[in-house]
Amino acid sequence: MKPGTRRRETSAVHGAAKLDKKDGPVSTPIYQTSTFEVADNEEQQRVTATDRYYTRWGNPTNTVAEQTLAELEGTDAARTFASGMGAITSTIMALLKAGDHIVAQRDVYGGVAKFLADWLPKLGIETTFVDTTDYEQYEQAIRPNTRLLYLESPTNPSLGVVDFRRTSALAKKHGLISMIDSTLGTPINQRPAEYGIDIVMHSGTKYLSGHADLTCGVVCTRQELIEKINDTRTTLGNCMDPHAAWMLIRGLKTLAVRVARQNENALRVAQFLSDHKKIRRVRYPFLNRHPQYEIARLQMSGGSGMVTFEVEGTGEDACRVSEAMRLFTLATSLGGVESLVSIPVLTSHAMISEEMREKMGVNEQMVRLSVGIENADDLIADLEWALQAVGAKQTIPVG
Ligand SMILES: *Cc1c(COP(=O)(O)O)cnc(C)c1O
Repeated sequence: MKPGTRRRETSAVHGAAKLDKKDGPVSTPIYQTSTFEVADNEEQQRVTATDRYYTRWGNPTNTVAEQTLAELEGTDAARTFASGMGAITSTIMALLKAGDHIVAQRDVYGGVAKFLADWLPKLGIETTFVDTTDYEQYEQAIRPNTRLLYLESPTNPSLGVVDFRRTSALAKKHGLISMIDSTLGTPINQRPAEYGIDIVMHSGTKYLSGHADLTCGVVCTRQELIEKINDTRTTLGNCMDPHAAWMLIRGLKTLAVRVARQNENALRVAQFLSDHKKIRRVRYPFLNRHPQYEIARLQMSGGSGMVTFEVEGTGEDACRVSEAMRLFTLATSLGGVESLVSIPVLTSHAMISEEMREKMGVNEQMVRLSVGIENADDLIADLEWALQAVGAKQTIPVG
């Protein structure tokens, strides 16, 4: 088979795992070492700053994970980080300096909103927030010193969808670097780099690792940007441990099948919820009443495993529903094989003011589901049971 012709399902399994196959291990070896022996100082100079020098610079196991991810996203290269936030903060600090300006969606991950609004001003970098799908606002927010267009799609927890073609064209027109948090999308459902988005980033903690047992982050982009990002990662020490890299490689092998099942299950769950009388609103990119349904169908091959709904009731009703579930586990985070439920105003958006939350479209009645790979009928039965709690005088008995 010619290189570069593999489809995503194949890349996810085979990745870049050519590493030291002399002894024939099918699984990638873990280079659990912080440093590497050299024969002489000439070799020492040759390996400096490569993945056979010192693990803060790189490590062969991490390289396999990185090359696999670059292939999945269709970019020149990728780098792994200690967490998704580590990937975002290191990348932004690598590319911007004091006096620069960012245009960012208002509706971004809570930790990112905090970094942009509270932390970067300390370094002299300002951000203007815009409404996710109001592209006029994006254009108006751009200043002569704007350097970065920061995007997220689908958004968390509102599941808004950003038009990749339009935003990447806007960035090119104004000479900006475009960066997207594609965590909820996964490279199975969407590949923003194909639309000209410069940097694709993931919290690998979620779908990429897929088993709720790992914290990591990934950035995929072109070579010239990777070099700057690499230098900052090494300086800030935001690197990923080789054992974690091995777990990420293992997770990636099943990414395509997990995501395909999660897409199917989530669509079934969303359809069930949209007909339910105790529910006011369901958000899912592949439901045809979703406001960006057309764009979602165009640039995504599946609607993702996330479903957000609002109960016809109060914030207390939403909490009661989440606590009455027996199959969906009450926990923050997403993207694992097991289904989770959480209340955004108490978890991902707990640190954000009510006024800001309203602008982001996040309210107390919202329940966010991360749909796993279980049987969809069982998941729907659990929801049917738990929704009895809406408007109930007391908590329904568990069991
Ligand atoms: C979880 C998450 C992050 C942060 O990733 P960590 O691995 O927790 O640091 C960033 N963006 C999105 C969309 C996330 O869901």
